Parts: sequence; structure tokens; C-alpha cells
Amino acid sequence: MTESVGFLEQAHLELAARVDQFARAQVEPRSTEEPDYITQARELLKRIAAEGLLRYVAPSPYGGLHPYVDIRSLCVIRRGLARYSSLADTMFAMQGLGSYPITLAGSDSLKQKFLTQVTSGEAIATFALTEPLAGSDAASIRTVARREGGEYILDGDKKFISNGGIADFYVVFAKTDPALGRKGMSAIVVEKDRPGFTTNALEVIAPHPIGEVHMEGCRVPVENLLGREGEGYSIVMRTLESFRTTVGAAALGLAERALQEATSYTKGRVQFGKALSEFQGLRFMLADMATEIEASRVLVFQAAAKLDTARNAGREDPSSVLASSMAKLYATETAQQVIDRALQMHGGTGVLKGTVVERLYREIRALRVYEGASEVQKEIIAHQLLRASQNGSTAAPPKAS
Ligand SMILES: Cc1cc2nc3c(=O)[nH]c(=O)nc-3n(C[C@H](O)[C@H](O)[C@H](O)COP(=O)(O)OP(=O)(O)OC[C@H]3O[C@@H](n4cnc5c(N)ncnc54)[C@H](O)[C@@H]3O)c2cc1C
Repeated sequence: MTESVGFLEQAHLELAARVDQFARAQVEPRSTEEPDYITQARELLKRIAAEGLLRYVAPSPYGGLHPYVDIRSLCVIRRGLARYSSLADTMFAMQGLGSYPITLAGSDSLKQKFLTQVTSGEAIATFALTEPLAGSDAASIRTVARREGGEYILDGDKKFISNGGIADFYVVFAKTDPALGRKGMSAIVVEKDRPGFTTNALEVIAPHPIGEVHMEGCRVPVENLLGREGEGYSIVMRTLESFRTTVGAAALGLAERALQEATSYTKGRVQFGKALSEFQGLRFMLADMATEIEASRVLVFQAAAKLDTARNAGREDPSSVLASSMAKLYATETAQQVIDRALQMHGGTGVLKGTVVERLYREIRALRVYEGASEVQKEIIAHQLLRASQNGSTAAPPKAS
């Protein structure tokens, strides 16, 4: 696999090799059947934890490997896992996405309690923002958290929550002051066994634990608030700005696998007396796929490096927001096209259940939707561009959940 981009350090390259070895041996589905994927998901998480990979999702005082969350490492791991199993990638990614708000804004005791369990794999994390009536427009959420004495009382519904139903805790975004709009949004950790908190499962096209959440008079202690009241929206944005780059990395892994499958299939399959790989029409397709994948690789690791550099310097870098959206947009759209072409090159074999390209075809689809659909990424990119050329603009882009 090419590692031509100069955004990675030696430690990242070593991590990539380790993840590849681990995922090849312990992550790739071995059967054409899809047994209970929830059981599989739990088993995969255990293996990922045993390999020490969850130590990359939180900072060092709380079980993490480094004093910070290194976005390039997350990208390297997601790319490596996604090549073999999207389910493994989801289980890893959600431990990061669901705990990052606590890393950003949690009190020391919340970090001790939740992050240590996330990094050991004992607790499964979630990020609960989307609602039936609030998807791309995340600021319009209707869940409310009313303070009464030492507790918040939560009422509302969440939808499309990854790990919903199997998680141990949920970072729930709710309005503590609905009159203030997005400025009245707060982030609150809700443990799964709180009274008034229920879930039910949803099914999507590829194995992915996901569900709905219902909160009715659900009481949690005020100590579970992340940061201060009103900081929820900023926590959402800061989390997604970092994590959407990692979605691009997962898409990159899926696309790389598709190209690998297409290359070996076309070399081995003979029609009209020669290997498919000798037909110019297919050779050009392979060349386009490889070129677009290389461009994805550069965009993803460039964005991740920008995020890591800004974090190390302790400053915000608007160009990393732009880079992150471009990486997610380009890598996910490219992966969809690359996988489609790889499937086409397999002919009928490509749609047979159990073929790797058939699995990739189902696995890629959701990545163009979650953490800000492609259209929303375009709006963010356009907003950043126009703001840069029109100082003083206050227009806000759509919110990417
Ligand atoms: C597999 C999966 C996992 C998910 N996991 C989570 C999770 O863990 N936590 C969580 O909170 N959410 C999660 N989501 C929800 C996801 O973030 C939302 O589905 C996504 O933000 C889109 O919201 P929506 O589905 O309500 O679509 P809508 O917002 O209704 O959008 C529908 C379509 O309209 C387009 N659109 C919307 N606004 C605009 C605009 N201004 N300009 C142009 N086009 C626009 C969208 O791009 C989309 O194509 C998950 C979703 C999926 C599919």
C-alpha cells in the first residue's frame, strides 16, 4: 500500500503495519453468513481493546497512550480496520466519537469514570445528537434538559444513534434553555440504566449497531453536564471537525480494499481469450481508481496533520475545518465510485452475497450520510471560502451531525 504522503511520522507507519496485521488475522469476516452482528460487534471490540488500539481514543491520564488524542493515529486505525471490516471500524470509531466530548469538556471525575472504561473496552460509548426532526440541522434539536435541584430531567427522542441499545452511556445533546437556540444546547452524559431512558434497535444496510433513544422524565445528576450549560453546540462542532476526517480515512480503507480486489480479479479472470486486465477499458478504470484513491489519501492525512498541528500549538485553525470537510467529502464520494467500479469489474460475481466487493458496496453507503452528509460538507466548504473572501460575514453553515 502506498505511503507516499508526507503527513505521517514513523510511529504512524509502524501503527499502520501493526493494525494491518491485526485486522487481517482477527477482524475480517471468515464466513459468508452474517451471524448475529451485535455479538460480533462486542467480540470485535474486545479484540480491538486487547490489541491496545482503544488507548488512542482518549488522553493518557485516563487510559490513553498520549496526553492528547492524535487524529492521524485515529485515521490510520480506521483505515486499517475498514479494509477488513466496517463493523470493526464502527466499534473503534464510536469509542472515540462517543467519548471525545468528555475528553474536551468533562470534569476530572467524569473523565476518570468514563474514559478509563472506554479505553479498556469495558464501556461502550455513543454520541446522541440526531433526532427524528433534526438531522443536518442539528441546532434544531428538541430534546430538553430541565434543571431541578441537583438533577437534570431529560425529555426527547434521538434517532440513528450508533451503538444505541448496546451502549453503556450516551453523550446526549439537549436544550437546557430552548429560547436561546443553539446557544441553549448542552451536553450531558446519560448512563443506560437511568429511569425513563429506553432504546430500540434499527437495521441499516450493512452490519452496524444503531438505534433510537427515548427519554421521558429521565433524571441524571447535574455533575454529568459536560462543560457549562450552553456549550453543547461548540462541543458538537469541535468533535465533528476532528472526527469527520476519520470518516474519510475509513472510506479510504474501503476504497483501497476495493482496488486490491479489482486488480486481482481482473488479472485472474479470462474472457475473449485474455485476462480482463488486458482490456484498455478496464485498465483505464483501474488507473482512475488508483489516482483518485491517492488524492483521497493526501486529503485525509493532510487534514489530520493540520488538526494535530493546531492541537499541539493550542490554537484553532480555520483551515483545518475546511481540510476536514474536503477530506470527508472527497474520500467518501471517491470510495463509493471506486467500489462501484470494482463491483462492475467482477460482473455477476460482484453481486453474489459473500463477495468482498458486495460487502464493501453495502458498507460504504452510510459514510456519505453520517457526520454531515456530502451536501452539508459542500455547504461548510463554501461557507469557509466565502467567509475568507468576505471579512465580517456572520452567515452560519448547516450543522453537520
Ligand atoms: C449508519 C448511520 C449512523 C449514524 N450514527 C449517528 C450517531 O452515532 N449519532 C448521531 O447523532 N447521528 C448519527 N447518524 C445520523 C446522521 O448524522 C444523519 O443521518 C445525518 O446528519 C443526516 O440527517 P438526516 O438523516 O436527518 O437527513 P436530513 O438532514 O433530512 O437530510 C436529507 C438530505 O437532504 C440533504 N440536505 C439537508 N440539508 C441540506 C442543505 N442545507 N443543503 C443541501 N442539502 C441538504 C442532506 O445532505 C441529505 O442528503 C447516523 C446515520 C447513519 C445513517
